[in-house]
Amino acid sequence: MNAFAGQIFALFLLFVIFTPIERLFALHKDKKVFRRGFTTDILHILFNRFISDVLGFVVIVTIAISISLYTNPVLRELIASQPLWLQGLQAIVVANVFGYFAHRIVHTVPFLWRFHAIHHSSEQLDWLASARNHPLDQVFSRAFVFIPLFIMGFTAEVFGAYLVISLFHGIFLHSNVRFKLNFLRGILATPHYHHWHHSNHPEAVNKNYAGQFPVLDILFGTYYFPKEITPYIYGVNEKVPKGYFGQLKYPFRPEVR
Ligand SMILES: [Zn+2]
Ligand SMILES: [Zn+2]
Repeated sequence: MNAFAGQIFALFLLFVIFTPIERLFALHKDKKVFRRGFTTDILHILFNRFISDVLGFVVIVTIAISISLYTNPVLRELIASQPLWLQGLQAIVVANVFGYFAHRIVHTVPFLWRFHAIHHSSEQLDWLASARNHPLDQVFSRAFVFIPLFIMGFTAEVFGAYLVISLFHGIFLHSNVRFKLNFLRGILATPHYHHWHHSNHPEAVNKNYAGQFPVLDILFGTYYFPKEITPYIYGVNEKVPKGYFGQLKYPFRPEVR
């Protein structure tokens, strides 16, 4: 199966899994399956990786190898010699710390925010909204996470496992489901936690940056988790284009004030 056919098959599988779950347990019942932006997000899912995977690989490997030449190989050998499950646990912690700061940086540096604003431009959230990302925003966040992992010597299996876990967890975080899973609050990121990250309520803006572990937000003062209240305004104040190609060009356009 070639890469493009694989993408379509994965998309079909996700559609078949998430559509009934979101219908049965909808958080926002007025959200339709074929909502506004559906086609745009499908194009993100189908085409982004052809830019972000290739460019991301080149950037990450080039920088990581260059830095590795100047670092002591003892730590790398020590990490790579551990059992896979232990490496996996360590990699998740390292990835979350670097991921937290990468995410915080793209929210606070205005030029980088123009790329990340694409992800936040969805006015309705569901599993498919997780696909809406500017490819260069993806390259930046991945580089910030994977270069340290690479330099520290984690093996390819650990990279692969982390990628798969974070991908599926990320899709779930955006889904339109009403179960709040409050027993996991402060422990593991849930849809309720990440929906607040996407909300455009002033008190929730620039909160909940962690990918998996909200304890990082608690530590660094960016945690926002009203237990019982559900966000109902999503999106950004900027006028982000609705179409896929407009979104790809958006960060490079002169700023309209
Ligand atoms: Zn964000
Ligand atoms: Zn998101």
